Amino acid sequence: MIYGLVAPGYEMADVVVTNLTGGTKMFSAFDMSTKLKLIGVDVASFGDPFCSNVKHRTIVLEDAVKGIYKRINISEDGSKLLGGVLVGEAESYNMLLQTCKNCLPLPASPEELILGARGGSGESSKGSGVMALPDNALICSCEGVSKGSICSAITEGGVDDVKGIKSCTKAGTGCGGCVPMLKDLITETMKAQGKVVRNVLCEHFDYTRQELYDLIKIQEIKTYHQLLGQHGKGYGCEVCKPAVASMMASIWNDMILKEATIQDTNDQFLANIQRGGTYSIVPRVAGGEITPDKLIAIGLIAKKYDLYCKITGGQRIDLFGARVDQLPEIWEELVEAGFESGHAYGKALRTVKSCVGSTWCRFGVQDSVGFAIEVEERYKGIRAPHKLKSAVSGCVRECAEAQSKDFGIIATEKGWNLYVCGNGGAKPQHALLLASDVDKETCIRYIDRFLMYYIKTAEPLTRTATWLNKLEGGIDYLKDVIVNDSLGIAEQLEQEMSYLINTYKCEWKEVVENPELRSRFTHFVNTEEPDPTIQFQAERGQKFPVKW
Ligand code: SF4
Repeated sequence: MIYGLVAPGYEMADVVVTNLTGGTKMFSAFDMSTKLKLIGVDVASFGDPFCSNVKHRTIVLEDAVKGIYKRINISEDGSKLLGGVLVGEAESYNMLLQTCKNCLPLPASPEELILGARGGSGESSKGSGVMALPDNALICSCEGVSKGSICSAITEGGVDDVKGIKSCTKAGTGCGGCVPMLKDLITETMKAQGKVVRNVLCEHFDYTRQELYDLIKIQEIKTYHQLLGQHGKGYGCEVCKPAVASMMASIWNDMILKEATIQDTNDQFLANIQRGGTYSIVPRVAGGEITPDKLIAIGLIAKKYDLYCKITGGQRIDLFGARVDQLPEIWEELVEAGFESGHAYGKALRTVKSCVGSTWCRFGVQDSVGFAIEVEERYKGIRAPHKLKSAVSGCVRECAEAQSKDFGIIATEKGWNLYVCGNGGAKPQHALLLASDVDKETCIRYIDRFLMYYIKTAEPLTRTATWLNKLEGGIDYLKDVIVNDSLGIAEQLEQEMSYLINTYKCEWKEVVENPELRSRFTHFVNTEEPDPTIQFQAERGQKFPVKW
């Protein structure tokens, strides 16, 4: 039988080797529990997923809006987990599998296994969940590594990171699905030993992001190689290179292209790479307000370069289908027409959405468009650990959806309410109220402090919502730091923000005006010829990349 999974393959190989080398071993069957991504959807099944021949009770969660289906089968007496199926979200797979395999006692309300426990931090419950497993619990099913072996590598072997666990036990080297559990085990076991757990950036830097941020700033380090030489080891990797580039950009506001070797593809070409190998261009349209002349300019440029046009969800116009060698020419024309980079490619402020507010809407109590433009102009180009989105609504009806943004502002009769750490995307989360009925100046001051505090302290690639979820003390603590200045750093945060605002430059303009940077925009290194493999087809009156 072909299982299609790595673990039975290893087991079969072990049987062959044992028999070839004089031993005796039989392959009888293998646990088919597995977690996969099928066409982008997380799916998993564990234990007995259907329980066709066993008396059981089931708990089902079905959310057709989010595309999530979860079912767990529980023994008739409610004491044991027999198996289950997860579709659309499978984060709890590892814990469910271990609970099932090790016949762990179920919580008083077993639905918590798929709904999550009410109250309490997810992080700590995750940790204590792993620690509750018996030593013989199989953590890495691919390599057959138990919790006991992993813990003794930590306690007796002195291992303190996932890389060490991988090299000394082989756990996590197969499908990689158990790596989050390995991290939890390392953290919890080290905590239990009274050791300090440091979340270092990667194997090339023995520092947390926050420590590196301070080192770069205090020692005035301006290049990745200088930092690597002074504080790191090896050649760097795909984790530390973009993370350091982002920190340098946040601290010095230098051109992100300055060190071309350490950028992601999108940052390398200041545009988003799309299907078929062409790029899309999003000019900034602050607050979504645009003049007819500027609309005409975009239309003419799109027509000249035969670009596909689409209005984005963030009130901007996206131009698709540009070849890499065309980018500087297109930007030159856009810059001439008064446009700037919209940073749609960077971990930076994207868009500040607005509703029409009091200028046009009968319900509006404040000028939301004017404020959105002011906010977008203020924070444009600022690099952060992750992308930043914002919105301003003209009244409580919230047409700009400000509560789903990293920072959102809603007009009130008395001023503005400021919400922070909201998130759309894969894991939607509502923003939380940071300050209410404040005037414009106070609102801006709080946003300055909030953004700088986030930029300085968040882990790489962490959105504000996740950052807040991990912040000890949550929104109350954040309010204390930002509004009450409990750490005494408000002035410093404001000064640092003001430096970034005052040193802003449009990255597209820099490329257009700099022959050396401009010469990098070629498809091939040894000829000016464009990529001959790019192909388009027509659909709905515009061009599309040919189907893959
Ligand atoms: S949020 Fe209020 S002001 Fe803005 S468009 Fe909606 S109803 Fe009008």
